[in-house]
Amino acid sequence: MTTHQDLIDRDRKVTFHASTHLRDFAHGDAPGRVITGGKGIHIVDKDGREFIDGFAGLYCVNIGYGRTEVAEAIYQQALEMSYYHTYVGHSNEPQIALSEKILELAGPGMSKVYYGMSGSDANETQLKIVRYYNNVLGRPQKKKVISRMRGYHGSGIATGSLTGLKAFHDQFDLPMDGILHTEAPYYYHRAAEQEGMTEREFSKHCATRLEEMILAEGPDTVAAFIGEPVLGTGGIVPPPEGYWDEIQAVLDKYDVLLIADEVVCGFGRIGADFGSHHYGIKPDLMTTAKGLTSAYQPLSAVIVGDRVWQVLEQGTGEYGPIGHGWTYSGHALGCAAGLANLAIIEREGLTANAAETGAYLQERMAATFGDHPIVGQARGVGMLASLEFSADPEKRAHFDPSLKVAPRIAAAAMEENLIARAMPQGDILGFAPPLVATRDEVDEIIARTERAVNKVTDELT
Ligand code: PLP
Repeated sequence: MTTHQDLIDRDRKVTFHASTHLRDFAHGDAPGRVITGGKGIHIVDKDGREFIDGFAGLYCVNIGYGRTEVAEAIYQQALEMSYYHTYVGHSNEPQIALSEKILELAGPGMSKVYYGMSGSDANETQLKIVRYYNNVLGRPQKKKVISRMRGYHGSGIATGSLTGLKAFHDQFDLPMDGILHTEAPYYYHRAAEQEGMTEREFSKHCATRLEEMILAEGPDTVAAFIGEPVLGTGGIVPPPEGYWDEIQAVLDKYDVLLIADEVVCGFGRIGADFGSHHYGIKPDLMTTAKGLTSAYQPLSAVIVGDRVWQVLEQGTGEYGPIGHGWTYSGHALGCAAGLANLAIIEREGLTANAAETGAYLQERMAATFGDHPIVGQARGVGMLASLEFSADPEKRAHFDPSLKVAPRIAAAAMEENLIARAMPQGDILGFAPPLVATRDEVDEIIARTERAVNKVTDELT
């Protein structure tokens, strides 16, 4: 029989893993794990060890693991027709039905849906749309895109440039030209530096910084702004009060398109269909992926608003069919998975559960860690939460990075059979449980986290 160790040994010889210390993994100095199954919020490895997945894969398995209904929908579609391309007006039934459903959820002002396979490729599509839009409008110089420090929008050349995290730029010669980063809406850090600044004042300050950047670059050169409704991989940071209103006022003033990157927030995660609905954001374009299929198939969707769509139509009137497309756009198996997934979210009320059980998660996090000696802040919204660790919570002082506090706590959580994610920048532990999580399961996540945090606290003091 093939053992877990056999598989890991073979894997080390042949696989280039994402976000991994390549040398240590290849030479057996970093751990490996082979996952074989899962049910609800749990996953199981090849040894039969069961973990609570407190991060839903990469905040994507929103309906939980082992939903045979989705497997069945994929299978039935595969029997009928797995694939035909969607170029030059070809379509398939699940694609049509899924687009209708997405537009119904997105609400007024949204016009059409374009499909890809990942959040990164969807944001790549957004960048092409933004360029095309301004060329058609006769503004060839209006091309720059402003993102935010700590934003996460993918890891390609262009989308990795949009991402505002050091590890995604260093050694890759990124960001590329034409992509700029403005201040992160990270009140916790800013308030530490600037005593007495209220959240509202900080939101205004972020908008002022954005306006200064647009003016310095020249408004006729700035095409779009991209942001996640809730900063995700950059630290799971809900926006400060009034942030999106302030930002949108600046974008409107200078005719800058707004792209809402809903890859994490979309389809229920924060207790609304979209993060944009929760925060009153009125985007021109929306990027979705993850929760669209709960990762049962790779699928992303760019949702194009009316204002942009009119110009795309005008452009093809002038220049002919649009030069954009992926072989797998609108893949029938992905769309079938998306439909089955969205049906489960609707039938089981998972968006409402993300609001209700999510509020309970936030409450328990705050009650358990609010006064903890190494926790600077417990924060989140819906089923998205994080703990930011601090050497001195009063002063919001950072730990020496060489102590690797968050990775050690994530490792201690693993010993408790709980997966929580050490976020890539700063001592932050992230949580994004599947939206099916119950209050009892939240209690279990909190109990295991508390043991892990206390274990590392003891080591540090
Ligand atoms: N946008 C956001 C907000 C994300 O969180 C991610 C991935 O985590 C992406 C885009 C990129 O998605 P993918 O990893 O599917 O390319």
